[in-house]
Amino acid sequence: MHAERLDRVRAAMSEQGVEVLLLSVGPDLPWLIGYEAMPLERLTMLVVPADGEATLVVPRLEAPRVVEHPDVFTIDPWNETEDPIARVAAHCGPAVRLAIGDRTWSRFLVDLQSALPTASFGKASDVTAPLRSIKDDAEIDALRRAGAAADRVATQLQAGDIPLVGRTEAEVSADIGRRLLDEGHQRVNFAIVAAGANAASPHHDATERTIERGDVVLCDFGGTLVADGGAGYCSDITRCVHLGPPPADLAEAYQVLHEAQAAAVDAAQVGTSCEEVDATARRIIAAAGYGDRFVHRTGHGIGVEEHEDPYVVAGNTTVLQAGHAFSIEPGIYTPGRWGLRLEDIVVATEDGPEALNRVDHDLVVLDV
Ligand code: ZN
Ligand code: ZN
Ligand code: ZN
Repeated sequence: MHAERLDRVRAAMSEQGVEVLLLSVGPDLPWLIGYEAMPLERLTMLVVPADGEATLVVPRLEAPRVVEHPDVFTIDPWNETEDPIARVAAHCGPAVRLAIGDRTWSRFLVDLQSALPTASFGKASDVTAPLRSIKDDAEIDALRRAGAAADRVATQLQAGDIPLVGRTEAEVSADIGRRLLDEGHQRVNFAIVAAGANAASPHHDATERTIERGDVVLCDFGGTLVADGGAGYCSDITRCVHLGPPPADLAEAYQVLHEAQAAAVDAAQVGTSCEEVDATARRIIAAAGYGDRFVHRTGHGIGVEEHEDPYVVAGNTTVLQAGHAFSIEPGIYTPGRWGLRLEDIVVATEDGPEALNRVDHDLVVLDV
């Protein structure tokens, strides 16, 4: 698995004229070799020459954490008093066209620029993002397991098993986070809980606001579930519940949202462009008169990162291929009153779109 990914990376590097790829903290490294660099001041960096052996420069005290894949890379541990930048520079040799991980800390990049004054640095994502966006079977399986785990929490929400009335958004958010871990995630990435008018802010942070009867409660949550290869894959789901009977305008808007979301999932066929999938949801919402209240793109790719290529947005002409995994999450927001969003993760397959989230798509009314 890792050797195959490294082959694909090397092919993309050669195509783009990248001589050496440098990966540190961030999602590219676990995707490629199953090892996640510790986000600390000591440098961990994988040096991948287009036509030479890959080397993981790693602090000696962290070396025991590395699962070795001698067919993929060798490790070069550095001692506490040694200079890891000089090590990396030495492994780069005379190369001048380098690409470095997008999330690598600038302190390391700045030091590398001094150590390699003739080198130019591009973004590793130019090499890795197109490769990472197409998931292999093991990755799709990991996304399925993460999706199923998130679904189990959403089921608890819709069943009324997660107490809402009388608790703050922050308390419910923490509760959802615990449940994501209980259901098999290793990490909670976010748990947006937005009640009533707060739901009109799409990336609302859970607050001390107390949830009351009569509120719509929008819950958008996800975590990371570590798969066999060592990399973690993300879940991301949004469901809304209403505490008591919803007002007519909200219920009407939800019907439109539900229809738009289902139509966009159906539209996510191999061969269809990302912008057409976005337009499918947007046309339905606009036709019902809510066009100006759908204020964000329809979705984002997902994998080892919560948000990655391909983005389901106007202007993205990327054509869906089997293995693309992404969210479909239209929303309708009425500032000052309420907000609604409905989100599933979907994988494009030759047999049509496969939704990884299956829990009830209706606005579940909880009798409180
Ligand atoms: Zn988001
Ligand atoms: Zn989400
Ligand atoms: Zn999302």
